[in-house]
Amino acid sequence: MSTQLSSRMKNISASATTALFARVDDMKRSGIDVISLNVGEPDFPTPENIKAEGIKAIEDDFTKYTNARGIAPLREAILKKVKEDNGAEYTMDEVTVTTGAKQSLSAAIMAVVGDGDEVIIPIPCYVSYPDIVKLAGGTPVFAKRNEDFSLDLDAIAGAVTSNTKAIIICSPDNPTGAVYSEESLRKLADIAVKNDIFIVSDEIYEKIIFSGNKHFSLSSIPEIKDRVILVNGFSKTYSMTGWRLGYLCARKDVISTAVKVQSQTTTTPPSISQIAAVEALTGPQDSVSEMVAEFEKRKNFVVEGLNEISGVKCHDIQGAFYAFFDLRSYIGATTEDGKVIENDSMLCEYLLEKSHVAIMPGSAYFAPGYARISFASSMEVLKKALERIKSGLNALKC
Ligand code: PMP
Repeated sequence: MSTQLSSRMKNISASATTALFARVDDMKRSGIDVISLNVGEPDFPTPENIKAEGIKAIEDDFTKYTNARGIAPLREAILKKVKEDNGAEYTMDEVTVTTGAKQSLSAAIMAVVGDGDEVIIPIPCYVSYPDIVKLAGGTPVFAKRNEDFSLDLDAIAGAVTSNTKAIIICSPDNPTGAVYSEESLRKLADIAVKNDIFIVSDEIYEKIIFSGNKHFSLSSIPEIKDRVILVNGFSKTYSMTGWRLGYLCARKDVISTAVKVQSQTTTTPPSISQIAAVEALTGPQDSVSEMVAEFEKRKNFVVEGLNEISGVKCHDIQGAFYAFFDLRSYIGATTEDGKVIENDSMLCEYLLEKSHVAIMPGSAYFAPGYARISFASSMEVLKKALERIKSGLNALKC
């Protein structure tokens, strides 16, 4: 008999985005010209002023462990940012720096969720939320969102049981690009208060928001501040995915418990990145607005281009850098060689094989029949990709 792996891990999936990333990499290395629209990171370099601080940190030998909660100047800069942008006041023991916002999410969930606890996740949702809940021993409970991807508050209230510990939301949202209104978030806050549950508020796309939309942070409501766990980071706003830095703001006991997770897993967030992140928060912010303006141009182009393809429907995107679109009319279609496209995964597989364009199937986000493309690529690449998607779909018999 062979030695057995952990039973908890049997229910955990590898991140679908990471798996597709590896597959596309293999195809590219074998010489195939694949356009990848599957990746969730800005295509802009980390701004020069931030890189320079990182280089200086290395030259100054700031290359060792730090406080597990992160260096004081960075925590101070985060508190200032959260106060100015979100109107929320936190103290130094109510913030911790983490190794990416994904670690913020996992440390926070481990801090509040245990065996038998349920966590409500509105779907479609970010691929990692359900598995992070399962890793903590909890059970994800899905609540469908409305057709326009706004929060269905009745579905959320209806999903609450005596085991519900938390709700996870993301605004601006990956994958749908929805930004939740202040009104709906205030109603969500009422549900949390009434049922005594935490809200994990993932605000990592906060700054990537398009004209006419406004970000509202749940942390700004003083009456629920003790049950809000604010997750944010540097990956998206400052194009720092590889620097691996995020942060959490929450009640003191939630933070000290999350810090236990950090101290027993990664020890501290990366020292060099922390110095660079102080510059990100306190230095000039022009690069952020320039990046967002470019994303908005691309968003307009992609939404229009997708809607011009027969049978494709794409709603307007309010924030983040993804277009999430409806491909349900192609489910059941037949390929030129007679194969039936049974679901969105097969459709994306077909587009990858035939048209050499990598897009994420909606089912990875619990939204079968949809697909997600990232517009973190140049206009030229996006134009070519849309042509490929169009000719691939046009070649199908519906
Ligand atoms: N939350 C959401 C919604 C995301 O899309 C991502 C990155 N794809 C993360 C959290 C994690 O970001 P990071 O760990 O790079 O800070």
